[in-house]
Amino acid sequence: MTIWQEGMIRLARSEQVTAFAQRQPWLTGLADRFVGGATITQARSSAAELAGDGITATLFYLGEYVSDPELISTTLTELEAAITATAEASLDVCVSVDPTQIGLMVDAQTCTSNALDLARAVRAAATQPRVGHDALIIDMEDASVTDATIDLYWSLRAEDLPTAITIQAYLHRTPADLGRLITAGAWVRLVKGAFAEPADIAVRSAVDRDSRYRRCASQLLGRAAREAGVYPSFATHDHRLIEEIITQAEAQGWPADAFEFEMLYGVRPDLQRELSRRGYRVRVYLPFGTDWFPYAVRRVGESPRNLRFVAAALTRRGAAPGGGW
Ligand SMILES: Cc1cc2nc3c(=O)[nH]c(=O)nc-3n(C[C@H](O)[C@H](O)[C@H](O)COP(=O)(O)OP(=O)(O)OC[C@H]3O[C@@H](n4cnc5c(N)ncnc54)[C@H](O)[C@@H]3O)c2cc1C
Repeated sequence: MTIWQEGMIRLARSEQVTAFAQRQPWLTGLADRFVGGATITQARSSAAELAGDGITATLFYLGEYVSDPELISTTLTELEAAITATAEASLDVCVSVDPTQIGLMVDAQTCTSNALDLARAVRAAATQPRVGHDALIIDMEDASVTDATIDLYWSLRAEDLPTAITIQAYLHRTPADLGRLITAGAWVRLVKGAFAEPADIAVRSAVDRDSRYRRCASQLLGRAAREAGVYPSFATHDHRLIEEIITQAEAQGWPADAFEFEMLYGVRPDLQRELSRRGYRVRVYLPFGTDWFPYAVRRVGESPRNLRFVAAALTRRGAAPGGGW
């Protein structure tokens, strides 16, 4: 992780900066770029627009590491509204959730109970949930909650509910976790991993992260995975890795509709559309809600080029930002 990225993560964690930034109308350009809308109605329109380019979406209600019961309840209400709205619009019924948004900061039981309710809502709204279309996708947060998150996934599977799990390639434990998920024919979203974990838990350099990602992608595209009915979702914007995965999938006989690429809303939209035009399945992670600053500023951390959206907002405003900025 670079100093720049660590700086942006620190900014994202500052409640004062977040409160200030979210009140600034001149920063809405940044929100518009990376967030699909403040409300579910706007998010559904953004998802419908993507569908016009053959791209599916998974909706995510902004907010993380929540322990306030009222906020947990709001998150559940918003996600249930997203489930209903996407079903009504004949879109994939697919929502992503951080376990710490829905009660893991309270206790594992609360979180499991809320996740069960959401996955049941997906099953009811989608009527016959299809793998690769309809699911409650569980995001993976920092290493302190990896075990609890994987346990949560198995609780949903035990009830035969439509679900998928995010797995971080940088963790040393991942090949073993993937082994169990492959045997169970899981829908697995593979990411590189976004947290600054210590060396005894994860690899730390970008080169090592990429090589771990390659190895995990090979595991997910292996014959055992294909035979078990695994649905791999390769969540990365790394075009070199994407081309390698396409080559490998073709060599291993995976049809183009048996796996997908997943990217963040507003990140490499050119690449998203190009892959879709070439006949590959593309899903976009589409956040919505009003608590947008921590999420958007982390995207700037991942690629300093995204500062241009802040610069564009400033140009439109015609003045320099004040305060802590
Ligand atoms: C759908 C999705 C879900 C995710 N869920 C999780 C999760 O649950 N847990 C978790 O730990 N991590 C999650 N991540 C984040 C992931 O772990 C990586 O930190 C993040 O995707 C950056 O890695 P990368 O492979 O995309 O690109 P990098 O290796 O960072 O960069 C490769 C290239 O991708 C492009 N790129 C990458 N990011 C950006 C950007 N923001 N703007 C413009 N270009 C960019 C650039 O061209 C760059 O050169 C998720 C990512 C995606 C796409």
